[in-house]
Amino acid sequence: MKYIHKKTAPSFFITDTQGLTTWNDYSVTKEMRDKKRHLKEFILKEEQLYLCCYCEKTILLHANSSHIEHIKPKSIDFVSLTFDYSNLIVSCHGNHFNEIGDNSRNTCGHKKDDNFDEIKFLNPTLINDLSDYFVFEIDTGIISASLKDEVKAGYTLQILNLNGKNDKLAEARKKAKESLIKNFSTLSIEVRKKRLRDYLQNDSNEFITFFRYIFRHLN
Ligand SMILES: [Zn+2]
Repeated sequence: MKYIHKKTAPSFFITDTQGLTTWNDYSVTKEMRDKKRHLKEFILKEEQLYLCCYCEKTILLHANSSHIEHIKPKSIDFVSLTFDYSNLIVSCHGNHFNEIGDNSRNTCGHKKDDNFDEIKFLNPTLINDLSDYFVFEIDTGIISASLKDEVKAGYTLQILNLNGKNDKLAEARKKAKESLIKNFSTLSIEVRKKRLRDYLQNDSNEFITFFRYIFRHLN
């Protein structure tokens, strides 16, 4: 998880949602669904660089594998924030690593669902140094709470399940690391250093927080 800088609400969002009272109103006709999709694309492109707000898995627009997430759930105490732009980010569905036929949603926004404690949850749009709240096992990709605030980080990891069902999400981080090492292995040391520097600066790279963590801890 890393900090997401929210921009001011785009004017099309204000216009499109005028007069809507419930989130379902945003999906009631094809025209409305197109408007909602426009918002999702805007957030992904402008603020999240096509990464899930929680697990940093790449989100593919055409795959119907993501949704607009209310950080503070609209279904419990935060109904007044239903159309509050600052409360909206884009999460994956949390089913990337399911076996065939398993439609359960095991991580991220749908996992969090209505289980939410505002005091303990680390809101990615509010905490600049969010990445510092977590540590990784470099060999396995397992994420856990750092000493910065074990209660909040532990709680946040638990309700988002950021190691995934049977640690499948952690395994995906590990595989991404192995793949990067393999891609870089044929390069000369100088070229490798430069490519790695460029890679780490690119906020759109999948699991970038994990890669930055590895780099910091190997140097
Ligand atoms: Zn996710």
